[in-house]
Amino acid sequence: MKLRIAYLYPDLLNIYGDRGNVLTLFRRCQWRGIAVEIDYLDLGSSIDADRYDLYFMGGGQDTQQARVCEDLQQVKKESLLVAAQNQAVFLTVCGGYQLLGHYYKPHEGPELRGLSLIDAHTVAGHKRHIGNIVIERTSALTGNLETVVGFENHSGLTYLGKAVSPLGQVKTGSGNNGEDATEGVAQGNIYGTYLHGSLLPKNPALADELLFKALSRGHAQEQVKSALIPLEDALESMAHQRALLLKA
Ligand code: GLN
Repeated sequence: MKLRIAYLYPDLLNIYGDRGNVLTLFRRCQWRGIAVEIDYLDLGSSIDADRYDLYFMGGGQDTQQARVCEDLQQVKKESLLVAAQNQAVFLTVCGGYQLLGHYYKPHEGPELRGLSLIDAHTVAGHKRHIGNIVIERTSALTGNLETVVGFENHSGLTYLGKAVSPLGQVKTGSGNNGEDATEGVAQGNIYGTYLHGSLLPKNPALADELLFKALSRGHAQEQVKSALIPLEDALESMAHQRALLLKA
């Protein structure tokens, strides 16, 4: 069994430790004996639409987002849309997340066109939403209610379309826009979030949900279930519990 990860714009979109998400996915496969290949796809790199099971795009400031937006529109958009249709998993954080929607309107400069992979849009607000954040969601893997913890730092306010499901409901913190108590997006295999930290090391259940969906793209679900043996996760759970005690 092998997982192929495309790490998009690792040099441009990688703030607040977002690369820790790719490391977590890599290690949680390695600990289970699942082979993992990671390709680093920066500006100008084309994409073989059927090659990758999971795409990761981290956060970045407006200037980096503008450069990424141009490359997405001119080089990668068509392949990414095909990949999404073929059920590849997308995990995107903050600036990367904002470019999944129809557009991101920064404070200055032109509107940045997004991939329109989700029915959402983002406009820069006048306040930065910074701090620890806790959301609550139902796991797509177990059906259990779970908390997800992280750190947010964004001025962008994201508004989801009517048919789009959030990643979760905000318990403490701001989330998508600080108004509607939604955070992020979880639409099929497309995930977006404002949670930096990085997200996955302290949220092992979410990491395994992403791995299950990504591996199920090329393997029978029963085979994937037996490959994703439970990990000890004591350290991860302790970090999660400690984060729950932090105030937003
Ligand atoms: N520039 C965007 C904003 O401030 C995204 C920032 C980020 O990726 N942390 O909302």
